Amino acid sequence: MMKLNFSELNKQTKKSFGDQRAVIKRVMQGKTVLCPECGQPLRLVPPETSDKPGIACVKGCTAIELDFS
Ligand SMILES: [Zn+2]
Repeated sequence: MMKLNFSELNKQTKKSFGDQRAVIKRVMQGKTVLCPECGQPLRLVPPETSDKPGIACVKGCTAIELDFS
C-alpha cells in the first residue's frame, strides 16, 4: 500500500515520509523505482504534461504529487 499525495503527507509517519522522499530522489536521479502495488516503474510527471505533476506509475496506484512551483 503506497498511495501518497501531499494532502495526506501530514498524516504519514516519519518513516513513510522518509521512504517517499527516497523514492522521489531516486526517480529524480533517473533510477528505476517500481510501484509496490503493480510492479510497474514509477515515472516523473512533469508539470507541462499534467495538472497533477509528480511521480506516478502507469496504473495510478502510486501517485506522489509534487509542487513544482
Ligand atoms: Zn502501480
